[in-house]
Amino acid sequence: MFNPNNVVRNNIRNLKPYSSARDEFKGEANIFLDANENSLGSPLLKWYNRYPDPMQWKIKQKLSVIKQVPVDQIFLGNGSDEPIDLLFRCFCEPGVDEVIVFPPTYGMYEVSANINNVHLSKVPLTKEFQLDLEALESAIKPHSKIIWICSPNNPSGNSIDRQDIEMVLNNFDGLVVVDEAYINFSRQKSLVTDLADYPNLVVLQTLSKAWGLAGLRVGMAFASSEIIGYLNKVKPPYNISEPVQELALKALDEIGQVNDMILQLVDARKQLELDFVKSPQVVKVYPSDANFLLVEFTQARAMYDYLVGKGIVVRDRSNVLLCDNCLRITVGTDAENLKLVDAINSFQ
Ligand SMILES: *Cc1c(COP(=O)(O)O)cnc(C)c1O
Repeated sequence: MFNPNNVVRNNIRNLKPYSSARDEFKGEANIFLDANENSLGSPLLKWYNRYPDPMQWKIKQKLSVIKQVPVDQIFLGNGSDEPIDLLFRCFCEPGVDEVIVFPPTYGMYEVSANINNVHLSKVPLTKEFQLDLEALESAIKPHSKIIWICSPNNPSGNSIDRQDIEMVLNNFDGLVVVDEAYINFSRQKSLVTDLADYPNLVVLQTLSKAWGLAGLRVGMAFASSEIIGYLNKVKPPYNISEPVQELALKALDEIGQVNDMILQLVDARKQLELDFVKSPQVVKVYPSDANFLLVEFTQARAMYDYLVGKGIVVRDRSNVLLCDNCLRITVGTDAENLKLVDAINSFQ
């Protein structure tokens, strides 16, 4: 049976975390002289003179209802980047432990591994951008601690087969992190509701994509309360600022609006796909479960430069494994998409 206490680094298991003024006194009081804040106020609104809730309980209570996950199984970070880094710092001994990724995928796992001096093994996805389970089996070593799966995957856009993810969860005794940054655009069901079945599962989500709040920097991790406890132990005490907490709380009341945007973006993605396949410059449009499309062109770099000349910036992925001549194109507004398609069709 998987036990996170056997996987976590010794120094983190034994760590006595920082205890803030807000941790040490939680009762009711009128006069707070315990945190060396400015008692007079601030040049902005009055309440910004106070430190924010270190555990972001109000946001977690709302998320708990939306995601059907208990509050102690939710971690909030400064973007997904923060839980990604914290997972390395909590569970991977620098110079000793290893992690496994499936390229082509999100670049942050590798950067974070390098920052933390943790060896990273690459098991390429198949040509259909699915897991190669045989190759994975031979890549798993005694010191492998985390397997990073991105589903829907960036930059390919497809979802990873659910059965394959379950196979990895059932057979690996380290952590399996499933990055669901694009899950709201997908036909596939999130794994957050299956946390009870998989003690080694960590699900990452974010407010940056479907929720439309990339500027806010709020990422979420969902896992067992033991795993979340370790992330909380290591995070900086006040990792989400007061204005960000207030805005996130407001945004979480607007699920209806977010669901409308998701439907619009998925419709627009389908329309873009239809428009792209008609273009003689396009070789292939990969199936997408996200708010972007991976598109193979006859000459990707020339098309990229041509589009930049027209003031349109897409992401050149043509030097990435399995993405020869591919550009990654985010779904825009209807007006933006029209201009993009016009530009591609006028390429010569
Ligand atoms: C965009 C993206 C994220 C989001 O990162 P934030 O730091 O939360 O903005 C996470 N994972 C993947 C795969 C992404 O493409």
